[in-house]
Amino acid sequence: MVHILVTGGSGFLANALISTLLSRGHSIVTTVRTAEKARSVLAQYPHIAPNQLKCKIVPDMAVADAFDDAVRSPNDSESDPPFSAVVHTASPFHYSITNAKKDMFDPAVNGTVGILRSVHQYAPSVKRVVITSSFAAMFNPAKPAKSKYSEADWNPVTWDDAESPENAHGQSGYRTSKALAEKEAWAFMEKEKPGFTLTVLNPSLIFGPVSESLTSLDDVNTSNERMRDFIIGASKEKCPPTASQFWVDVRDAALAHAVAVEKDETAGKRYFLTAGSFCNVEIVEAIGKEFPELRDGLPTGEALKDGQYPAGGPKYGFDNSASVKELGINYRSLQESVADTVRSLRAIQERNTV
Ligand code: NAP
Repeated sequence: MVHILVTGGSGFLANALISTLLSRGHSIVTTVRTAEKARSVLAQYPHIAPNQLKCKIVPDMAVADAFDDAVRSPNDSESDPPFSAVVHTASPFHYSITNAKKDMFDPAVNGTVGILRSVHQYAPSVKRVVITSSFAAMFNPAKPAKSKYSEADWNPVTWDDAESPENAHGQSGYRTSKALAEKEAWAFMEKEKPGFTLTVLNPSLIFGPVSESLTSLDDVNTSNERMRDFIIGASKEKCPPTASQFWVDVRDAALAHAVAVEKDETAGKRYFLTAGSFCNVEIVEAIGKEFPELRDGLPTGEALKDGQYPAGGPKYGFDNSASVKELGINYRSLQESVADTVRSLRAIQERNTV
């Protein structure tokens, strides 16, 4: 059993990660931004002993030293033991960017470097740090079509071109924030040589069941928005383009984080997490297969055109063998992931109509 600090406890991925870590016997303190979010996270685990899951408030990780208090265990007692590991999942993930530096780069980069610095200075008991990066930090627009993505790939963006129009808006702005944050994390390790090791996980687009504490479909996280839109009929007239090509289920991504904490052999490595390629038409088909009663609201025929794979199939190949062999991930199928995601979203709809 390991005592772990998990940042971003209110997030979609962190929700699955906390359940996974608890089920593997670990105890957790998670950071959230408000007392209300702390109550909401804790309310999901009424049967967990108070010592096994706690929350600390970190309102804004863009601020210097934001995590200094959270990483410390000043009492060093049975109820407040020092941390052995830290998992940093928090990072803004949305595409409505008005000011890239303020909305994206500052929280993503300062948060990542900030947690490393806080651990280095104030938490000598921490031996493992795991950071959630992204396929966004691997995406390279110059990569030749049909070549394979793997851990060797890097998003070429640098600070010099981060605020250029093509790198600072919408999906590109998010990708830039993740690429800069991961590059700064490895640079910190190289320069500071702290007393802990770093493992980085690079998930592709994450689907999967949302938190039971979610009260409105309006609050669904960015990567599950397309599922929400399909089930409420919002994409009936026009299936949206797929955009990002690779996907992974949140429970598989969560397990990868847990194994990265537990296995020392993952130290110093980054892992591409993907079950493979998908297109939006496949999601529509998976929903229609599992939920015939939703078919009326799904796009059909010509309306599916934009959601197809490009001519000739998926643009890139992939190599996820390191995550399979070294983290032991047996990736779920798209059908299972879509069905479970939709079930979790419909549970919210049902709660709201009672
Ligand atoms: P999410 O549901 O939006 O969670 C993001 C978390 O970060 C939330 O807890 C959020 O707090 C916190 N956060 C954002 N800005 C913050 C700030 N300034 N100060 C403190 N906390 C802040 O997103 P997610 O999908 O779970 O993503 C989790 C991680 O996985 C991120 O690092 C993301 O880049 C990465 N990732 C996600 C995907 C995906 O498809 N979902 C794919 C690859 C990588 P609030 O709830 O209070 O806003």
